[in-house]
Amino acid sequence: MIALSLAEIAAVVGGQTYDIPDPSVEVTGPVVRDSREAVPGSLFVAFAGERVDGHDFAAAVVEAGAVAVLGSRPTGVPSIVVDDVQSALGALARHVVRRLGATLVALTGSAGKTSTKDLIAQVLRSKAPTVFTPGSLNNEIGLPLTALSATEETQFLVLEMGARGIGHIRYLTGLTPPKVGLVLNVGTAHIGEFGGREQIAQAKGELVEALPEDGAAILNADDPLVRAMASRTKAKVLLFGESDEADVRAENVRLTDSGQPSFRLHTPSGASDVTMRLYGEHHVSNALAAAAVAHELGMSAEEIATALSEAGSLSRWRMEVTERPDGVTIVNDAYNANPESMRAALRALAAMGKGRRTWAVLGKMAELGDEALAEHDAVGRLAVRLNVGKLVAVGGREASWLQLGAYNEGSWGEESVHVSDAQAAVDLLRSELRPGDVVLVKASRSVGLESVAQALLETG
Ligand code: ATP
Ligand code: MG
Repeated sequence: MIALSLAEIAAVVGGQTYDIPDPSVEVTGPVVRDSREAVPGSLFVAFAGERVDGHDFAAAVVEAGAVAVLGSRPTGVPSIVVDDVQSALGALARHVVRRLGATLVALTGSAGKTSTKDLIAQVLRSKAPTVFTPGSLNNEIGLPLTALSATEETQFLVLEMGARGIGHIRYLTGLTPPKVGLVLNVGTAHIGEFGGREQIAQAKGELVEALPEDGAAILNADDPLVRAMASRTKAKVLLFGESDEADVRAENVRLTDSGQPSFRLHTPSGASDVTMRLYGEHHVSNALAAAAVAHELGMSAEEIATALSEAGSLSRWRMEVTERPDGVTIVNDAYNANPESMRAALRALAAMGKGRRTWAVLGKMAELGDEALAEHDAVGRLAVRLNVGKLVAVGGREASWLQLGAYNEGSWGEESVHVSDAQAAVDLLRSELRPGDVVLVKASRSVGLESVAQALLETG
């Protein structure tokens, strides 16, 4: 963080100070909410949660060198006390980003935010110091904490923004107003909570509404609901995608035999070839989005292509490909799943599995509301159409829908099996996997299928 005195912080958040002998003492950072991350110079943000009360760790963080605690009650150590800790954290972030010289980039979408954020971060940091959301910390707490980790050197601040309802993105952009705003797609993630695609588009579009006139809205030309957001912004619009009208496009897209996308990148400043290290064709769209952001921020097509070709995955359990010593390949995509990412992952599996036996170990896609049955059925069908060797559907009702889809598409039972839980899937695979097989593991976060991938890797 940029150095701020306790007096200034208290003023910014409208807090009362307690047990602070010298208000001119500075917080030099980081701002942390996990007491174990406190180091000399830190500000500890104490939330009174249902299970854990951060205030209980006040003495420990000061012991570890933290300068003060920002919380909702005095704790006997130097404290800034406010009514609402979350709002105070937001106010502090807003104050700090105003003083930063960095350009703020924000992105949202239904699927691929973290993957794309990681790509953007890797491309931009090849040019200048970049701070970005760690993992998926994209809510009203993770976002300000990330913003507060920027320093005077930071040139680019890349922020993932998640929305579970109308007004969420507006709140986040109020804290950290972006200059460049990217919307990836409007899919079906959280559709159960939102009520429908239009509502999701309404919520995600709040990002482009927040952009200034001299900013840039980066929109997916291939997603009609995203494209339509062009009318909701004062900023200039840059389109990416397959469409001919896109400003940033890919040509000659193909998957290499190992399932990695390769294509010729076109930006308004030129063209250059990319072969990605990441797996799955869905990364082409993510890469184009990242390229459009980087183009807007002054990078050449060549610089962007080089960085995209070098970019790896920075976050766990997203198409994490590991080969066991016996030649079995495990593709761990168990971080999360929705219909779009299931299809992309199955296609990647098919590309990687040419000439090999393929397995898709799939579990439910959560939060699909009324579309749940149809979407699971469609994924089961796609597995058969892509000639996946065997579908292992794991879990309850939704898993049976996956298997039913496979059956309806012409699988006679040999190619698909339904097991009740992760352990049963592990047992089945342990006895049936042969050297050279490729196994995809994927489901929604709540299913926790990474345990299957991990168990299979330990077996090897
Ligand atoms: P969350 O809402 O949990 O933060 P997210 O939007 O950050 O999710 P990622 O974590 O990047 O998304 O990816 C979630 C899943 O979607 C992964 O399984 C990934 O492989 C897949 N995915 C990534 N990019 C795309 C894309 N452009 N289209 C569809 N699926 C994608
Ligand atoms: Mg994410």
